[in-house]
Amino acid sequence: MSIQFCNQCGHEVVHRIPEGDDKPRAICTQCFHIQYENPKIVNACIIEHQGKILLGKRTIQPRAGFWNVPAGFMENGEATRSGAIREVKEELLADLKNVTLFGVYNIIQRNQVHVYFRGELAHDHFGPGAETSDVRLFTPADIPWDELAFPVGITALQRYVKEMKTGDFSIKEEDIIIDYDLLKQINQDMQ
Ligand SMILES: [Zn+2]
Repeated sequence: MSIQFCNQCGHEVVHRIPEGDDKPRAICTQCFHIQYENPKIVNACIIEHQGKILLGKRTIQPRAGFWNVPAGFMENGEATRSGAIREVKEELLADLKNVTLFGVYNIIQRNQVHVYFRGELAHDHFGPGAETSDVRLFTPADIPWDELAFPVGITALQRYVKEMKTGDFSIKEEDIIIDYDLLKQINQDMQ
């Protein structure tokens, strides 16, 4: 129940099940506007270059200081693929080619859907951009699994590394479960 005020008139809301609905919604006490809360979409791209994987180190919470597959919230007016390409440009200052869908991951505990693409560097220029302190190419054997920020990135990368051995890539839809301690840490980071 994160919404406290009406986004139309600024008055307080109450959380009640509207008539004909089956879930509590934020309803304005003044203008009766109902604010619906829906999952957010995050677009990401696993980037390969000459057999290595490009990762960025996060400077922002949650999980600042951890390595991550470049990813970010989708903006209005863009598509999933262009969102992923934009995030890569912003965070890793890199341009991509051959970008294609890799997986869709539901993170029900965080009300997020992550759309993962895979792609290759268009040229070998990259560096730390927004929200990023370091960018490196890792061989599959050197990927710092214990220093990766989020289970979704680990799950996607593990499948990628497995499939890159044959070059036979699949597209999967999976649910990601975050263990309790990590979820607590992420929520603390965000406060
Ligand atoms: Zn209102």
